[in-house]
Amino acid sequence: MDNRTTVTILGTSGAIPEVGGDSPTFLINDRYLVDTGWSVISNLRGRGIDPLQLEYVFFTHFHHDHYMSLPSLLYYFLMKGKPLQELKIVGPAEDLMLIVTRAMSFLHAERYFDAANVPTLIPLVPGDSYENGDFRIGTCPTIHPVQGLCYRFEDKQTSKVFSFTGDTAYYPPIGEHVKGSDLLIHEAALGPIAANPDDNAYMHAGAIDAARIAEAAGVGKLLLIHAYASRTEASVAAAKQVFRGEVEWPRDGQMYVL
Ligand SMILES: [Zn+2]
Ligand SMILES: [Zn+2]
Repeated sequence: MDNRTTVTILGTSGAIPEVGGDSPTFLINDRYLVDTGWSVISNLRGRGIDPLQLEYVFFTHFHHDHYMSLPSLLYYFLMKGKPLQELKIVGPAEDLMLIVTRAMSFLHAERYFDAANVPTLIPLVPGDSYENGDFRIGTCPTIHPVQGLCYRFEDKQTSKVFSFTGDTAYYPPIGEHVKGSDLLIHEAALGPIAANPDDNAYMHAGAIDAARIAEAAGVGKLLLIHAYASRTEASVAAAKQVFRGEVEWPRDGQMYVL
């Protein structure tokens, strides 16, 4: 087995992706998908990754740009005859069951497929942890209009730590939760600024907010995501004024080896 922790970026765009892009989606060790974006099947296959090798999908929260293509993924498993029970779906307890049940009923799964063929659900509330043979996974809350999970993955084989916030306004306790991460992905949907806490109805972060979290947590590298191409360069420059480590806006398809 390959003794490395890898993170492959599948999408970094704002809520509506540009042509050829996708909203925030990435892959850990080629077997753990984080959020599904708008077009996960073509995205994975276009990069030579067989969707059937996925063992887990982790959802940060249930806003459309983060789960839109879940039905495509489930349908792909059904059409290829791979039991859905082998796909574990982890996400915020508040909405996980509802979203997956609706995706299955949208597919008319009970009409065309074995009604007992459903994915395995692992609902988590912020603060919960989860462990399997590969990772120790911790979560903490985010500040967003729906329940969200900020995840911290510690690879048991490599001891490397990879964390990602999902969508969130600036929230200092996240810095404590992701402390010492080798790689942190923090959203920066508001561009090269710090969010105004009195005028942040959609509860997102700016690059300066992300950089404050990265600096407080002493992470190795900070990746900014979740905005349109016009904002990426200025966002990286703004974050570098606050965070002394490496900052990048990743390219789609870019793989990070921890
Ligand atoms: Zn959101
Ligand atoms: Zn979003």
